[in-house]
Amino acid sequence: MSDQPSIDSVRAATIVDPKDRKSFALKDRETRGDRIFDSKKDAKASLEADALAINELQDAMFACKAGALLVIIQGIDTSGKDGTTKECFKYTSPLGVNVFGFGKPSEEELAHDYLWRLHIRAPKRGFIHVFNRSQYEDVLVVKVRNLAPPKMIEQRYEQINAFEKLLAENGTRVLKLMLHISKEEQGVRLRERLEVPAKRWKFNPADLEDRKLWDKYQQAYETAIQRCSTPHAPWHVIPADSRSRRDATAARLIRGELEAMKPSYPDPGYRLDQFEID
Ligand code: ATP
Repeated sequence: MSDQPSIDSVRAATIVDPKDRKSFALKDRETRGDRIFDSKKDAKASLEADALAINELQDAMFACKAGALLVIIQGIDTSGKDGTTKECFKYTSPLGVNVFGFGKPSEEELAHDYLWRLHIRAPKRGFIHVFNRSQYEDVLVVKVRNLAPPKMIEQRYEQINAFEKLLAENGTRVLKLMLHISKEEQGVRLRERLEVPAKRWKFNPADLEDRKLWDKYQQAYETAIQRCSTPHAPWHVIPADSRSRRDATAARLIRGELEAMKPSYPDPGYRLDQFEID
């Protein structure tokens, strides 16, 4: 479709520039997304085109196994981490995409360093892995709820940067998406979860406890993004109050990462005239 904003312009509208990361403030970022997509209709058309392209690019990537893509999705409760994943990969072959959610660490996970559970789920060549929550929980919920000593948390930003650099230098592109919603929109979505029977299973009273800590979470996100938007794995802040614009923006960025990998089908050199197939 011709009306899609270019991938470069979507990148420019969402990226947290690593050179200027210290001045990043969440309050400077819009939550509506209508500067990227004028209308929901445009956003939906763009998403359709990109979801189809993501499937084709993934297919070639799976065949040539030249690299991998890790998509990290973070956002406060109800920001749409599941929904974004479903929409962006709705046409992608399940053979090449794995999605992992990171909730409270298990006893086994807690017995290792905090990056262990992430590293063993990083993608091998040819694959896309989506992390629904990630290593960033260890500087978000862990910080807000004082689940580790402050000194330990302080060390983690550089550890996370080093971990992501290791992945990037070994053939995995790391795309980090923060879904940015307003407090008002979260209120609407929490009420919706209680009102709509098909969404009620998603309601967790603990989400209301986290909502009371809204400002602390925003602060923790801001710090994490300031400290960890790096040249090898920059953060993108996606306006997420509108579901269709959110999904379309994420899909543009995912397609951009896959196109940058330039996946192409390998040619092992076999030709039909070399074989007899009865
Ligand atoms: P969603 O992630 O979509 O909101 P959910 O709440 O059902 O769904 P779960 O996998 O059950 O997802 O758990 C997510 C919870 O686990 C969040 O409250 C999150 O803050 C918490 N969590 C994630 N990582 C950690 C961590 N390292 N330490 C403590 N709590 C964590």
